[in-house]
Amino acid sequence: MVLSGPSGAGKSTIIHHSSPYIGNYYFSISTTTREPRDGEEHGVDYYFVTHREFEEGIKAGDFLEYATVHGNYYGTSIKPVNMALEEGKLVIFDIDIQGHRLVRAKMGDYVTSAFITPPTLKELEKRLYARCTDNNSIIERRIENAKKEIEAVSEFDFVIINDSIEEASAQFITIANASRLKHSSDELEKMVENWKN
Ligand code: ADP
Ligand code: 5GP
Repeated sequence: MVLSGPSGAGKSTIIHHSSPYIGNYYFSISTTTREPRDGEEHGVDYYFVTHREFEEGIKAGDFLEYATVHGNYYGTSIKPVNMALEEGKLVIFDIDIQGHRLVRAKMGDYVTSAFITPPTLKELEKRLYARCTDNNSIIERRIENAKKEIEAVSEFDFVIINDSIEEASAQFITIANASRLKHSSDELEKMVENWKN
């Protein structure tokens, strides 16, 4: 399941709030070249690496997808995702709109996606300043990006307007649990074969 939306939309908050109600899942920990924020931990929030290390990862084919977002590299490692899928877990990606396009191109309809946004750009701005994790120029850049990101909203299966955190989390839980009922094309082919034999 792919979650996208502007920085500050509430993706992390919604996942945190919903985690007891979505069963066995793996949250895909991305790799990034951005600086850790206060309180962020390597291997928990992200794998924080240098530009050089990231580019070595690209060359080695480590990433299911990667993109430059707000001037930094961000990418999803393939290995843990495949392991989690093999274990029957729901995999949740918090990635940008470019990442969503790449994952959908590779995994097709097996992917369920939701775009998360606050009700207005003003509210997004308010939340980014209230979060106190980024300086003003970084926040301004994220708000500018948000104006472009919203244009991709129609590419997503679902849109969650994060006004009330309780309502937004309830919507996310419904979508996440329904997405578990999807099967990969391999699984469906096997099902048809078994049916015939
Ligand atoms: P993202 O992961 O999308 O970048 P966060 O989850 O960090 O966004 O949320 C950004 C800020 O907005 C945080 O300070 C969070 O506590 C706050 N927030 C999230 N959802 C709501 C909401 N529904 N109402 C008010 N504040 C919210
Ligand atoms: P932040 O710096 O606020 O943690 O994240 C900035 C943006 O990068 C968010 O839109 C987030 O969804 C996106 N992002 C995080 N990890 C990845 C990733 O692995 N791939 C892509 N394409 N985007 C990511």
